[in-house]
Amino acid sequence: MKREHLIKPVLDHHYPTIQYGKGVYLYDDQGKAYLDASSGAVTAGIGHGVQEIIDAMLEQAGKVSFVYRSQFTSEPAERLAKKLSDLAPGGDYWSFFVNSGSEATETAMKIAIQHWQEKGRLGKNKVLSRRMSYHGITMGALSMSGHVLRRRRFIPLLEDFPVVAPPYCYRCPLNKTYPACGLACADDLETAIKRIGAEHIAAFIAEPVIGAAGGAVVPPEGYFKRIKEICNRHEILFIADEVMTGIARTGAMFAMQHSGVEPDLMALGKGMSAGYTPMAAALVKDHVMEPILKGSKSIMSGHTYSANPQSAAVSLAVLDYMEKHQLVEAAKVKGSYLLARLERLAEQFEPIGDVRGAGLLLAVEFVSDRISKLPFPAGLGLTSRIIDKAFHKGLLVYPAAGGVDGAGDAVIVAPPLTITEAEIDLLVQLLEETVREVLQEISGFDRGEI
Ligand code: PMP
Repeated sequence: MKREHLIKPVLDHHYPTIQYGKGVYLYDDQGKAYLDASSGAVTAGIGHGVQEIIDAMLEQAGKVSFVYRSQFTSEPAERLAKKLSDLAPGGDYWSFFVNSGSEATETAMKIAIQHWQEKGRLGKNKVLSRRMSYHGITMGALSMSGHVLRRRRFIPLLEDFPVVAPPYCYRCPLNKTYPACGLACADDLETAIKRIGAEHIAAFIAEPVIGAAGGAVVPPEGYFKRIKEICNRHEILFIADEVMTGIARTGAMFAMQHSGVEPDLMALGKGMSAGYTPMAAALVKDHVMEPILKGSKSIMSGHTYSANPQSAAVSLAVLDYMEKHQLVEAAKVKGSYLLARLERLAEQFEPIGDVRGAGLLLAVEFVSDRISKLPFPAGLGLTSRIIDKAFHKGLLVYPAAGGVDGAGDAVIVAPPLTITEAEIDLLVQLLEETVREVLQEISGFDRGEI
């Protein structure tokens, strides 16, 4: 294998070199265009190369790009914290700025544990999550994640935090049907709490719409209300991981606004700076901060680049751009147009078992049989085949594990919220060609050979 210096995700794979991005397109050094229907891991919410963001970045760089958070604060960081609190469900949030979604969930976890410590409840330090979840790649975040594949290599080093049933109605892990189920998946949290003991549990973390570990899985009506009520009853903090769903993606500024629940903590990342600079945050309700303000008055976490003024200025510009161009509304309107187009695609292809999502966070799940909903054999690598074929055609879609514990195939379709209807039509056309060709490729597969 040729020696190189850049560690890439797959070392012997060729990755095109991107020269520039504009709108929903990325262009490589060979002149090939890629329609970015995944916004780069659901990040580039306002599209690439937006001049207003570049201007804001330059303006801040002309003032100051870096101050150390242990010594100073900065005007953009202060303004951003205020703005996020104004936008978040019910307001009254404090922001702790970090650089990635993983740091945001891990910081939220640490603050939740510290909250109980300051109250003298030292045993409350476990964080429960769900089997079908992804909260990040650092050890603490991975300890809270139910993503089987991403955990596998590190299991001996991870905390053995308990996981509960996910609200995955398409193939319910409890073999029930909504609404007759009575939200049994939410009640599974209560069963786990009673088994473990609330005195050992600091928090429960969940994605409002399950992303990489399931593919745009929207919970049934009433799910988060029940979850919050269970958490409150047992004195357990609720952390909403809005890293993928937050900042307009699902047709609300925060996806929790769809359920009318105000989380005790939230994690934000990705769309917060729309990919222009690294920026993420743990948002903490006033009542969670209270014992810390009365107690040690400091949060035992932080990174050199935390609350970076350059990144904060970019985030403010992204939020301004979203307001100016009404992108929360756009996510709703364009999301329902794209959803309808994907549903039509499902009519054409038997193996498309489910099309789902919220706003412009949508996904398509593939099954080998629509009635039994059995997934294709894992050895077939259907998700990778679709992602690769689409890539070849110049279409970027995002892989999801699909199914409980990764047993399934799904792709996320989540283009920038600025996408036009004509671009959506092209996206669907390219996806249709992709699905047709991949299904032809695997049509003769023999289960025995896989
Ligand atoms: N939480 C969720 C819900 C995510 O989707 C991701 C990233 N896919 C993360 C956390 C981790 O974010 P990052 O990759 O920025 O560390």
